[in-house]
Amino acid sequence: MSKAIDLSSDREQLERDQALARLRANAKRETPAPSGECSWCGDPTEPGQVFCCSECAKDWQEHNRRRQLAARIGGRA
Ligand SMILES: [Zn+2]
Repeated sequence: MSKAIDLSSDREQLERDQALARLRANAKRETPAPSGECSWCGDPTEPGQVFCCSECAKDWQEHNRRRQLAARIGGRA
């Protein structure tokens, strides 16, 4: 009996890990590449920078987080 419970919790852990790995892979893929322009407001950036300032980076992260949350909720419904 206790063995069956252990097995099912191992499986849940595995599924959680896989879901987390998928989320991380998505977050990585959705980070914009540096283009010389701020990915949020379009202002010129320092070479190799994605955003012109930390405010833009924060706004983008917040926007992206909400989008991912919405996608997750939408996928479940
Ligand atoms: Zn900006």
